[in-house]
Amino acid sequence: MPPKYTTPTDSSNGHIARKRFGQNFLNDNNIIAKIIHAINPVKEDSILEIGPGQAALTAPLLEALQNIHVIEIDRDLIRDLHLTDAYAEHRLIIHEGDALKLNIRQIANEMNPKQPIRIVGNLPYNISTPLLFKFVDCLDRIKDAHFMLQREVVERMAASHNSKSYGRLSVMIQTHFQVEALFTVPPTAFNPPPKVQSQIVRLIPHPASPWPKQPSAHYTELVSKAFSARRKTLRKGLKDLVNEDGFAACGIDSGLRPENIDVASYIALSHHTLK
Ligand code: SAM
Repeated sequence: MPPKYTTPTDSSNGHIARKRFGQNFLNDNNIIAKIIHAINPVKEDSILEIGPGQAALTAPLLEALQNIHVIEIDRDLIRDLHLTDAYAEHRLIIHEGDALKLNIRQIANEMNPKQPIRIVGNLPYNISTPLLFKFVDCLDRIKDAHFMLQREVVERMAASHNSKSYGRLSVMIQTHFQVEALFTVPPTAFNPPPKVQSQIVRLIPHPASPWPKQPSAHYTELVSKAFSARRKTLRKGLKDLVNEDGFAACGIDSGLRPENIDVASYIALSHHTLK
């Protein structure tokens, strides 16, 4: 049975949730305990939380940790975080600004230059996809990540080929991470309640990149091109990048559509066509 936590969201401190910052604050202690249980923080962990808000996750995480680093954009919430004991005790380290713009690699190195860090966030849904791609750029600095996202986004991240939800996001995320869709969270667990269902997802970087030496810009282009023409065959959609011999060499039927081939096939096509 996960422990119960008291969080600052229990007593409203008058903050009005800002839509532009995707603010839906968790206010269900059972769900919060379930999330903390899934993350399973231990004292030695270096955890970076994106968007601590009113500390619904931050406070119980800190019960297990020596300290926690957070990135928050909202100045009013930052002001409140400055008033906490954890901040006074230097256990809460606040990076003020936009998580999309801050240098995550630099923060990770500052947190723990020797070990990869753990990332946690009930992410603002309006920026979740670009944030995920930002994490792909510093994979070597990440041990794992636990995010709350729109359920539909988690379905797309975890989808297998030949399914309706399989697309660019599935291929790009699964190329770099093992994706584990955990439990769903209903709108009633938040204040204000979002219009959609949410889900917790666990991401663990694969031990080795398919491109240990080069950046994978070519791969990104290939996958994006394939799915920008979802209804076209691979032969037509990728005609500028892969010729018939290329498909044949990878053992891929060029008459298939982009959702019909698996992640390994995209990686094979990319390796074959990389100049
Ligand atoms: N973690 C809190 C919780 O679970 O109740 C708050 C989650 S709320 C969905 C998202 C949080 O991310 C808010 O605190 C919001 O101000 C913050 N946020 C929104 N956009 C951000 C950005 N670009 N960079 C950093 N934080 C951001």
